Amino acid sequence: MASVGKVLVVGGGIAGLTTAVALRRRGIAVDVAEIQPHWSVLGVGISLTGPTLRALQSIGLIDDCVAVSFGFDRIVFADAAGRQFGALNLPKLCGADYPATVAIARRALHEVLVGAADRLGATIALGTTVTALDQRADGVTVTFSDGRHGSYDVVVGCDGFHSVVRALAFGDGPDASFTGLAVWRATMPRHADVQSMQMFYGPNVKAGVNPHSRDEMFLFLVQPIRDGGRLPPDRMHLLLAEQLVDFSGDVMEHARAHITDPAKVDYRPMNAFLLPPPWHRGRVVVIGDAAHTTTPHLATGAGIAIEDAVVLAELLAGEGPVADALARFSERRFARCKLVVDTAVKLGEMEKDTSIPIQAHFDLMGQTFRKLAEPI
Ligand SMILES: Cc1cc2nc3c(=O)[nH]c(=O)nc-3n(C[C@H](O)[C@H](O)[C@H](O)COP(=O)(O)OP(=O)(O)OC[C@H]3O[C@@H](n4cnc5c(N)ncnc54)[C@H](O)[C@@H]3O)c2cc1C
Repeated sequence: MASVGKVLVVGGGIAGLTTAVALRRRGIAVDVAEIQPHWSVLGVGISLTGPTLRALQSIGLIDDCVAVSFGFDRIVFADAAGRQFGALNLPKLCGADYPATVAIARRALHEVLVGAADRLGATIALGTTVTALDQRADGVTVTFSDGRHGSYDVVVGCDGFHSVVRALAFGDGPDASFTGLAVWRATMPRHADVQSMQMFYGPNVKAGVNPHSRDEMFLFLVQPIRDGGRLPPDRMHLLLAEQLVDFSGDVMEHARAHITDPAKVDYRPMNAFLLPPPWHRGRVVVIGDAAHTTTPHLATGAGIAIEDAVVLAELLAGEGPVADALARFSERRFARCKLVVDTAVKLGEMEKDTSIPIQAHFDLMGQTFRKLAEPI
């Protein structure tokens, strides 16, 4: 008889909803507490690489994700004028019927995850968080922000980089490092030539486009910055367009022409963070960005959050004491997540140093993707 019957998941982002699905698939009861009173998901896209699709396949979600996304098998590299000078073929890890990678609108991914969690019987409370976690030998008594109390076998903190669960259970804040880079993103109609992710290396910044549906793609641009201060909201489109002055060619000109609405431009300074193992205290464990926050250089932050969810559910559904399952969880996950965080940060550092040949970026990316193709 499994010793875990009921789990509280705090946070209904990618990690939290995937955890809810993975646990329900294994017959474990799940409550999800999400702090936002209404779902509010960023209107940009995200890549789901081969290992991420493989993890989604293992919990029966790959077909739903592929159906609402745009699949491709390689990343194309070009110079600032749009002249292609290389390509990275991506491994197909889910069989011949599936693409190597997809890009998907974050809202479309959310719909798939929340729909599955709901269908499988997870209970989701919006506008709710936790204010206290009282650990006992055989469970956790949780106090919710609305004054309710609940008793759970395990609490899973999926509440992101600023995790309250981590603060409550571990007692200290994250030792995060600001990477000196910011990412800009904007959604726009897909250019017909954009059939896969394309990256453009300019003299000062790297930009790219990613098709996340037949009709739409998103532009991303990585910019070295000195500090993470706020920018004027009404000028975001102009500030992004300024960054694109060095780029030409059909695709980038199309992109520049479509950056017209400041509200549709997303700008974020990037932090990186890796919680030292173990990722649990007693019966409280943190996963996803609450345990490891990475820059998007390998398009794998959500991927490792999804893998965390799959592995955690597998271990919690097994026989034996909860303490052993949680200890095994960080043992299985730490090295892989460290590889993603460290390599992404290193790629960011390499981008700041224009003396490093672009080939060195591809080599590191290719080598890391090969490593990540190994089973989890
Ligand atoms: C610019 C950019 C591009 C990226 N691109 C990619 C990509 O292409 N591919 C990829 O795999 N990854 C990508 N990532 C990484 C990815 O977005 C994150 O790793 C992923 O969203 C982490 O999911 P999460 O659920 O752990 O955390 P979050 O997305 O932060 O979700 C946390 C959830 O918890 C809720 N919450 C917060 N606090 C509380 C609380 N106290 N109580 C209850 N609920 C709470 C939040 O409202 C939210 O719903 C990118 C990241 C950035 C910044």
